[in-house]
Amino acid sequence: MKEYHILSLSGGKDSTALAFFMKEFMPEIFEKLELVFCDTEKEIPETYDYLNKIEIFLNKKITRIKPKKGFDNIIATTNFLPSHKHRWCTGLLKTQPLENYIKNLKIRLQLNKINLYIGIRCDEIVRTKGAGKNQLIQEKFPFVENNIYKNDVENILKNTGIGMPDYYKWRKRSGCYFCFYQSTNDWLKLYENHPDLYKKAMEYEYNDCKYIKNGRMGFNMEFSLKDMIKPENIKKIKEKYTIIESEKREITPCKLINLFSPATI
Ligand code: SF4
Repeated sequence: MKEYHILSLSGGKDSTALAFFMKEFMPEIFEKLELVFCDTEKEIPETYDYLNKIEIFLNKKITRIKPKKGFDNIIATTNFLPSHKHRWCTGLLKTQPLENYIKNLKIRLQLNKINLYIGIRCDEIVRTKGAGKNQLIQEKFPFVENNIYKNDVENILKNTGIGMPDYYKWRKRSGCYFCFYQSTNDWLKLYENHPDLYKKAMEYEYNDCKYIKNGRMGFNMEFSLKDMIKPENIKKIKEKYTIIESEKREITPCKLINLFSPATI
């Protein structure tokens, strides 16, 4: 049986830690493993830097898969921003390009089985629901099988020396800089850290006239991006998020293990 192994990197901490975990504990598979990243071409610069760093640390190239029709092209023809209600972006910019890549691979290499390794942790087991429905690929969850929790992932990244992605200093998610899932506070942090990208997002929103005319806000549910950065709104948002942060209680994952002593890497 001709088998193939792929790990889908997101540019975030979990999938990165999985690559290091597999190198250490599944070396035979890691040797044959292809690392892939579905590039929306709209990621924040820190994500691209982190991917370069991963390649160096693991001494392995990452295949960067790009959509045939990119975001700008889609917007130019549809004039329709993605949103909570119309999340067309993940399918067109990430899922479809990965599926096409895998289909081609299967034909080209005459594969019988493709294993796709996914960095879902044990404390997120609910996210594995629905797995196994894809006939093309067999999804694998090594972190779930090996009881790896959030703190374990952080230990892996710390002890291997690669650390967390740099964007963790100001935001918690990888993904497009204009992702509509980011909080209003994260939008402000984008404005502070990458004003050029904030401005680009603002232009998408502003140019998408149909959207604005219908009285809808665009990427963010509370403010249009143009209004968000008015001094009085910045003040309001900062005050609100200071209260939210101070009320937040961190839930500690139940298991702590010490993977990867620095000496083993
Ligand atoms: S990161 Fe956000 S905007 Fe980008 S593809 Fe994913 S859901 Fe869509």
